[in-house]
Amino acid sequence: MNALGARIVRLIEGQGPLSVAQYMTLALHDPREGYYTAHTPFGRTGDFITAPEISQMFGELIGLWAAECWHAQGAPAPARLMELGPGRGTLMKDALRAIARAAPEFAKALDVVLIETSPALCDVQRETLRDAGVPIEWKSGIDAALADRALFVIANEFFDALPIRQYVKTETGWPERMVVVDNNALAFALAPVAATLDVPQTRGEADEGAVYEVSPSGTALAEELAQMIAGHGGAALIVDYGHEGIGFGDTLQAVKAHKFAKVLEAPGEADLSAHVDFAGLASAVARGGARAYGPLAQGAFLERLGLRERAAQLAKANPTESNSIKAAAARLMGADEMGTLFKALAILPETAPAPPGF
Ligand code: SAH
Repeated sequence: MNALGARIVRLIEGQGPLSVAQYMTLALHDPREGYYTAHTPFGRTGDFITAPEISQMFGELIGLWAAECWHAQGAPAPARLMELGPGRGTLMKDALRAIARAAPEFAKALDVVLIETSPALCDVQRETLRDAGVPIEWKSGIDAALADRALFVIANEFFDALPIRQYVKTETGWPERMVVVDNNALAFALAPVAATLDVPQTRGEADEGAVYEVSPSGTALAEELAQMIAGHGGAALIVDYGHEGIGFGDTLQAVKAHKFAKVLEAPGEADLSAHVDFAGLASAVARGGARAYGPLAQGAFLERLGLRERAAQLAKANPTESNSIKAAAARLMGADEMGTLFKALAILPETAPAPPGF
């Protein structure tokens, strides 16, 4: 067991079992050895690759999506572009370049706020965005003060990293799945007390052993974004892998070096994530007083935003890279790649025109 694992064992021995959410928070964000604290995880040499790292087209199209929403709402100035969990800063760099070229008035009205917990990734983002040409500020979390103007929010592969809690159907109810110590190692076990749980009817009958997941921080955040956008105008785009909230299942996964790993084996060394429950997010958006569009499959969304045309244009300008550009487009849109598993959900004020693509 690694050092963080040994510390978690001692914590559980001293204070009792952890919820899956508490375990995820420690494994991902421990200030010394958490996954996002100690690693820069993306890219071919990292543990996984994200859409903006596959191709510049992804960030460009999303930047233009935000610019179109801004125009459709009467071009409010000043406006703010905010990204949650910007990773290496690649998406924002590509978005700002496309905005500067195609929507310079939007660029002029903008400042940028990046929400990032990892100091190492903040450094990478600072480097990537050195010549961005707009004022950029870093924050470790969102707060209401950020919404003193129209707010355009981008979150790619952010919600899947937010902690989830899991409940398992048994004869007596829905006890919570916990992380305990067994034989000096971390293990899953059910909490002794069966919690009563309000499981949405849309999920149908649960068989014994069915797993029900909730992401309290994800839904709280979606509701807060909805309130901000309802109050001051703007739009949010959430892109992530996930389901539409029908059915049950354990979706917690660990990924290391592009392969699945064991969730409890080496905390801090693998990325932990879970499928995003888009139906849950959409309900939270409604509670926050805004309108949710989608979820829409990433492939269909990018196609409608013009990814094919952009790929053809790029290939024409860079004939030697034409094959890799085509491959990148196929990877982002293909049904057996990221095209269907990944989905887009948008949040807009009730009164605003529908966003492009939806
Ligand atoms: N959007 C990027 C990176 C996705 S990985 C891309 O598409 O490439 C998740 C990102 O969210 C990382 O930057 C991670 O450090 C950050 N992150 C994870 N949990 C966070 C939290 N609770 N608050 C702020 N940032 C968080």
